[in-house]
Amino acid sequence: MFRAIYLEKPADRTEARVADVDEAELPDYEVTVRVAHSTLNYKDGLAITGKAPVVRRFPMVPGIDYAGRVEASSDPRWQVGDEVILNGWGVGEAHWGGLGQYARAKGDWLIARPAAFSTAQAMAIGTAGYTAMLCVQALERAGLTPDHGEVLVTGAAGGVGSVAVTLLAQRGFRVLASTGRPAQADYLKSLGAAEIIDRAELSAAGKPLMKERWAGAVDTVGSHTLANVCASTRYGGTVAACGLAGGMDLPATVAPFILRGVTLAGIDSVMAPRARREAAWAALAAELDAAQLAAITTEIPLADAIAAAPELLAGHIRGRLVVDVN
Ligand code: NDP
Repeated sequence: MFRAIYLEKPADRTEARVADVDEAELPDYEVTVRVAHSTLNYKDGLAITGKAPVVRRFPMVPGIDYAGRVEASSDPRWQVGDEVILNGWGVGEAHWGGLGQYARAKGDWLIARPAAFSTAQAMAIGTAGYTAMLCVQALERAGLTPDHGEVLVTGAAGGVGSVAVTLLAQRGFRVLASTGRPAQADYLKSLGAAEIIDRAELSAAGKPLMKERWAGAVDTVGSHTLANVCASTRYGGTVAACGLAGGMDLPATVAPFILRGVTLAGIDSVMAPRARREAAWAALAAELDAAQLAAITTEIPLADAIAAAPELLAGHIRGRLVVDVN
């Protein structure tokens, strides 16, 4: 038996509890992992609260990320004792996830944990941090460099936002951090933000084209915010869009794309191919400062993850939450 967060849906609402689960109930995949740390991402908040239908079947152990050690494997690529991490692939949505002491995965879903990170640090990064790096690398592929101008990060005090601010500042960009929490201004400046923008400036319906302000952006919010971010991007700039914290819709016009040559780069972490994942994790290992990572991270026990889920969705959590599943 092992301890896990267990989601059931007896009627039309999701019930979450910490349960003792039989190992025999784990899905029938090749690699059994003894999980050390997991984390809480926005999507885990949706799964645990049932606020959006991200869980495809019940009962479910949520948790789209985990870090741990291989305990059994029939996949020749993975040996007992290997240190691994998993991000995405529908784990915690369609397949049992990481918010428990054991998990079982297809060998294809795992990558080796970079030696630079402990299991707790790997989960402090988690899907949120790895997605932040996917966004930064998309801007890089588009040719954006610090001499092109400032870069905006929306939802800056959240998980993806905090890591994106840190990484972009580290790369020498002048970072504008958009937040709804002015009390987090000092925190964001400590991560390297040069200026704070009130998110209310971006969240109402705007014009198709507005004053050119930033050369690039990482957007975690979507909806009017993303539309306004594109409408205020400088000629030839790029916006990496990864999130929907403000809404799934995109009430925009094509004006920024056809009149200013702006590029909208979509970012998906869940099904991203292995090469892109490994490149993102390698860059995180090379660039992310351990002290900065510690500054954005709070560790909680497994039992507290259920209460933290609605707090995360409400935008009350700063930075990243690591879950000690043991
Ligand atoms: P967090 O909850 O940690 O951060 C979200 C932040 O968005 C909040 O901290 C807040 O920042 C801001 N925010 C919240 N609600 C609103 C609102 N109504 N309007 C405007 N801003 C709001 O979540 P994550 O960082 O884990 O994830 C951010 C987004 O990215 C989510 O939508 C998530 O689903 C998505 N995501 C997508 C991935 C992909 O593969 N494409 C992977 C990972 C995440 P502040 O207080 O600073 O304003």
